[in-house]
Parts: sequence; structure tokens; C-alpha cells
Amino acid sequence: MSKKILLPVMCLFLLLLSFINKQPHTNVANIYSKAYPATVVINSDNTVSVNKGRHLQIEPKSTQQDFEQWLNNATLTDQLEQEYTKGSMTVVPAINFDPGRARCEEFFEEMYGHNAGEVIKNCTTIQWVDGTPLVVTKVNGVDKHFRQIVAELKKLPSTFSKYLTKPGGTYNWRNIAGTNRRSTHSYGIAIDINVGQSHYWRNSTADKKGVYPYKNKIPMEIVNIFEKHGFIWGGKWYHYDTMHFEYRPELCSTECSCN
Ligand SMILES: [Zn+2]
Repeated sequence: MSKKILLPVMCLFLLLLSFINKQPHTNVANIYSKAYPATVVINSDNTVSVNKGRHLQIEPKSTQQDFEQWLNNATLTDQLEQEYTKGSMTVVPAINFDPGRARCEEFFEEMYGHNAGEVIKNCTTIQWVDGTPLVVTKVNGVDKHFRQIVAELKKLPSTFSKYLTKPGGTYNWRNIAGTNRRSTHSYGIAIDINVGQSHYWRNSTADKKGVYPYKNKIPMEIVNIFEKHGFIWGGKWYHYDTMHFEYRPELCSTECSCN
């Protein structure tokens, strides 16, 4: 091949290679900026910033094989790895299929606050369906989403009332039971609805094969209303927590295809 042809071919090859390398990062960054238009921006160095803060790297998928380690060290890419599907469930979740349980803690801290004091400064109080006051964040308009959810839940028939009274709670700076990972209740973006009507995998017993049998009583009508406003439901996890809903619009968009 002559030098005249070789140079343009090499340039084209390098251009193509850089495009291929950047593509997964760009997709991931786009999902976050679309899901959080008020807070996330994409920087020219291929990182994202939350609230004009530090540049967060879009790390590749974690290579850790162990599920608990994966949850403990989730990157922004890992956070999108398991695809959350809105609407009715046709099958119970497969073992360790927990879309949304992998969370990049750095991202949530930058977004909602690094400690209880910072989080509470961004919070306000809303009235739950039964009038119970609940503390939630105003960041990303989460308080407004909660108010819309309450208005829609109030339109459900009275047979739903038993699920929508005595809420378990919203804001609470704490770790997830049995882990060193921070609960999303710490950021004022999560709610536990009536605990007495709910099921939690930790309170059940695994079968002989070590599998936790799926249990749920929460009607899909309630789930659908939360999902419409960018919340995911813990009832769609193998490690189910059916009282739990959290604001995760990056998982509720129709284009969660980062792989
Ligand atoms: Zn919860």
C-alpha cells in the first residue's frame, strides 16, 4: 500500500477506534443526563458532574464476580446493568436479579448530600395518603413527584386503603440492614409503605436449595403509579422488599440499554 493511501486509512482506523471506545461511556452519560436534567451534566472529558460538582468517571462494568462485592463497589455503569422493566411482572425475579440495588454511592452523595445535615437542608415535608407527614428531598423535584403520586393514589378504590395507611417511613440516614451500604432512605428519595402488608426477603426462610421464595401482596395498581413518576419498586427484586419504592429515573426510562 502506498504512503498516500496508508495515512488516510490509518487516520480513519484511529477515528473509528476512538468512537468505539467512547460509545459505551457516551450512552451511560446520556442516560443519566436525560434522567436527571436538573442536576446532571456531561463534561467534555467524558465524565458527568452532579450539581456542578466533581467530575465522576464513567467506569466500565465492574469485573467482580461475587454478587455482594458487585453491590458494594457498583460503578455508574453497574448501576444500569440489570434492566428494570416497568409494568406487570410475568415471572418472579431470577436469583440475584435486583435491578436498582447496585448503587454508586458517590453519585447519590453528590446528588442529595454527603451526610445527614446536608441531606436534610434539601428536604421538605409532604402529606402521605392518610395525612402522615413525611420528609423527602426537593432535589430533582422528588417532593413534587411524591405529591403527584399521593394525588393519584387517593383516586384508587377504598379497598387499597390498607396498603396506603401507616407508612413505614421516608427519610432516615442509615445503612441497609446487614450491610455497610447506605440505604436510599438516607437521601430522602425512598418510601416504605405499610410494613404490615409487605414482605421482605430477610424475614423469610430460604428453601433447601438456598433460594428465597418470592412473596408479595402489594397490588400492581400502586406500583404502576410510582413507576409513572420515576420510582422503582423493591418487589421486582429477587431480594424482595415489597414495601420499598425509590426515585431512580435512570432505570425507569424506556432506553436503559447501556450494554
Ligand atoms: Zn425501604
